[in-house]
Amino acid sequence: MRIENNHSLLKQNTFGMDVSCACYLEYGSAEELVEFFASGRQFTLPEPFLHIGGGSNLLFTKDFPGTVFHSRIRFIKELSGSGGNVLIEAGAGTLWDDVCVFCAENGLWGVENLSGIPGETGAAAVQNIGAYGAEIKDVVEEVRCFDAVTLAMKTIKAEDCGYGYRTSIFKEGAKGRYTVMSVVLRLSETPKPRLEYGHLRSAVEAGDAEITPAHVRSVVLEIRNSKLPDPSKIGNAGSFFKNPIVPKSSFDVVENYARSKYGKEYEVPHFDAGSGFVKIPAAWLIEQCGWKGYREGNVGVYEKQPLVLVNVTGQARPYEILGLETRITASVRNLFGIELEPEVEHI
Ligand SMILES: Cc1cc2nc3c(=O)[nH]c(=O)nc-3n(C[C@H](O)[C@H](O)[C@H](O)COP(=O)(O)OP(=O)(O)OC[C@H]3O[C@@H](n4cnc5c(N)ncnc54)[C@H](O)[C@@H]3O)c2cc1C
Repeated sequence: MRIENNHSLLKQNTFGMDVSCACYLEYGSAEELVEFFASGRQFTLPEPFLHIGGGSNLLFTKDFPGTVFHSRIRFIKELSGSGGNVLIEAGAGTLWDDVCVFCAENGLWGVENLSGIPGETGAAAVQNIGAYGAEIKDVVEEVRCFDAVTLAMKTIKAEDCGYGYRTSIFKEGAKGRYTVMSVVLRLSETPKPRLEYGHLRSAVEAGDAEITPAHVRSVVLEIRNSKLPDPSKIGNAGSFFKNPIVPKSSFDVVENYARSKYGKEYEVPHFDAGSGFVKIPAAWLIEQCGWKGYREGNVGVYEKQPLVLVNVTGQARPYEILGLETRITASVRNLFGIELEPEVEHI
């Protein structure tokens, strides 16, 4: 276990915010963390507590006054398999993409569409990460956690994780109570490609490569790399806003606007969200407000994907990102009457 005071978080948030935390604690095993809490030593640490993974969904708005926890539990192992299903367990501190590589190399279906998502496996299960029509909840069997209330380990089955769009009980409801130690995934040896999203099918079927998890992974990575900025080169935290889910009446306002501007045949991109609700891509709304490629001081809106706010110079301060967020949110509200919500967690 490593404990450090006044620890810089600059390299531990992909936005590249130059902030620090009063105390930083990194642990290497579940036993170590359980023993630490059982001994009462947590009462010597500055509060509040925050657990981070790779910091790829976080915006630190200032120095953190409490203790930041981080897991170095890194492993991937096969647990069992029957009837074409294979269970694997991955430590919370394992890079999520290493899990995707493992599955691709072993011909296991289930996470290929989620290839290339930055961050660690514990956070992936917290966030219910999703991309190209797949979400991690589709393959989570159970999540193994440390429970800060009982000070014991607890296994939570997928159906009890409260999974929703980019959320779970680990983010809402029980946030701060459970620390994810490892995640058990149920994968399939039987081909189960999910290619319905966007142009994924045509990209995967182009050429004569056999459709395997490794092939789908490589196509997904190619698409992602062409659209999203690499955080090691330009600071960002992926999609900054959630795609709003609005009543059909709000969608009609958007559609009327678009058709008066682009013609009667124009189709606003949208997805049926059930029960009279419609999901509209936040990127489209932001682009309509003229933000795509916008640049101001150290910050901007990525030119290939307006959902991504970027630290253009690497020198951006939190208030600059927050200022841009406020102006984008206000312009979408003024033009469409729709309230954007951040996907990135503000700390
Ligand atoms: C370029 C880019 C592209 C992205 N693309 C996608 C995408 O396609 N789909 C998608 O869903 N997301 C995407 N993201 C967002 C991000 O990668 C995911 O949300 C990822 O799961 C965050 O992982 P992390 O390890 O960085 O977690 P962090 O950002 O450090 O933390 C995220 C949350 O998890 C909690 N947490 C972390 N570890 C634990 C733990 N062990 N126990 C309990 N709680 C914990 C934190 O407190 C926080 O609430 C993208 C981000 C970037 C920068």
